[in-house]
Amino acid sequence: MSDCIFCKIVAGEIPSRKVYEDEDVLAFHDVNPAAPVHFLIIPKRHVASLETCDSGHRDILGRLLLLAPKLAREQGLANGFKTVINTGVDGGQLVMHLHVHVLGGSKLQHV
Ligand code: 5GP
Ligand code: ZN
Repeated sequence: MSDCIFCKIVAGEIPSRKVYEDEDVLAFHDVNPAAPVHFLIIPKRHVASLETCDSGHRDILGRLLLLAPKLAREQGLANGFKTVINTGVDGGQLVMHLHVHVLGGSKLQHV
């Protein structure tokens, strides 16, 4: 997706502060953090949103979620963290490339 901000981050065309990377997944700090620690975990291959996922995305969805506690721990979030996946217009999704927000470092507002 040539006009997708997160695909550009994956391609290195837009710089990011990397938290984690492997063959299929990238995690990087949010440019506009909503908590003392706020990073995003994304699939490298473009997926628009949770709404467009099907059983073929089972593996990548599992990997994104399982990375959340691992990376949260590495970022020092010993007291817990919040995960958020905004989906679609009503869900407040601004970037149409699937991402898991991981937030922590202070007591966060209950959903
Ligand atoms: P959404 O509302 O789509 O769930 O969240 C998108 C998030 O991406 C926002 O928290 C926003 O701050 C972040 N974001 C948007 N553009 C960039 C960027 O170019 N770099 C980084 N690191 N984060 C971005
Ligand atoms: Zn994309």
